[in-house]
Amino acid sequence: MKILVTGGAGFIGSHLCRRLLSEGNELYCLDNFETGRWENIEDLRQCGRFHVIEHDVIEPISLDVEQIYNLACPASPPHYQRDPIHTAKTCFLGALNMLELAAKNGGRILQSSTSEIYGEPLVHPQPESYRGNVNPIGIRSCYDEGKRIAETLFFDHYRTLGTNIRVVRIFNTYGPAMDPEDGRVVSNFIRQAVSGQDITIYGDGSQTRCFCYIDDMVEALVRMMNNEKGFTGPVNLGNPVEITVKELAEQVIRKTGSSSRVIYCDLPADDPTRRRPDISLARQMLSWEPRVPLQEGLDKTVAYFQEIRGRF
Ligand code: NAD
Ligand code: UDP
Repeated sequence: MKILVTGGAGFIGSHLCRRLLSEGNELYCLDNFETGRWENIEDLRQCGRFHVIEHDVIEPISLDVEQIYNLACPASPPHYQRDPIHTAKTCFLGALNMLELAAKNGGRILQSSTSEIYGEPLVHPQPESYRGNVNPIGIRSCYDEGKRIAETLFFDHYRTLGTNIRVVRIFNTYGPAMDPEDGRVVSNFIRQAVSGQDITIYGDGSQTRCFCYIDDMVEALVRMMNNEKGFTGPVNLGNPVEITVKELAEQVIRKTGSSSRVIYCDLPADDPTRRRPDISLARQMLSWEPRVPLQEGLDKTVAYFQEIRGRF
């Protein structure tokens, strides 16, 4: 199959490209390299079925492909807040351009939405039916509201034009190939622990998150794209095991044997207090649930950071 992965040089995108290539597909990796890295796709470029297109999804593009995974968008709060207007454009215009491409090709398109569309959740854990509690004017809004309007576009395309859509709501995902400098909690804590820097807990560390290992996420994305039940989603994808940020810091320190100090910093505005996916729908419709426990996933991620230690 000819498959387009937008954001293919990013963390999730590069793992997805590797998986799809290994299945014999012709892969088009479209990226503007805003947060993506050439090193993530270095090995893939040896393969004749892998093509890199340097392009920004906010501009239309013509390409003959059967499936599109629309992943292009910075995922880390410091990154998506760096140029919030561009992030909003990426979410809206990127989704629209890719939907139009899918409709023109008569192909299938999967949107990587996010747990952030639930905002500061008043329902816990979050099922897909929960409509969220999002601040429309805060510093996270370019991303949260951007991803919400992208979901709207997807479902309006589906209803009015019959475009073949799939929508997944991804919860925190981690693993090798995360950018050590991307500012997210797992990459920050491991980079800090491995290099002996202070470990920065924002707030008092009592906020919770759930962490899904990358291999589990890639499996879910491929299952969702290829489900033949006409199941559009939205569907939550994530690991339902919930821990506090403070517990995560303790686990990383234990695993790395680090002598780093823990320091407490200001909690960023609108930082959600808790977050946990209800994955009943994914279990039922995709026969999917995460297989890799946090301990095992953290071991693999720590090993990756130790390997690239000289680069940060
Ligand atoms: P990432 O920042 O590593 O990758 C995003 C990729 O998209 C990068 O390669 C970047 O250069 C590219 N990109 C950004 N804007 C672009 C644009 N306008 N045009 C072309 N390319 C562009 O992030 P990730 O963690 O791999 O996330 C991938 C997708 O999954 C994103 O859409 C994100 O919103 C979603 N998601 C990720 C998580 C997570 O925990 N990693 C959670 C929820 C949702
Ligand atoms: N966080 C932290 N220290 C860091 C980076 C993040 O305590 O160095 C916290 C952040 O405030 C949030 C949680 O960890 O409460 C998860 O942050 P991340 O950026 O990974 O993702 P989010 O789920 O907020 O999008």
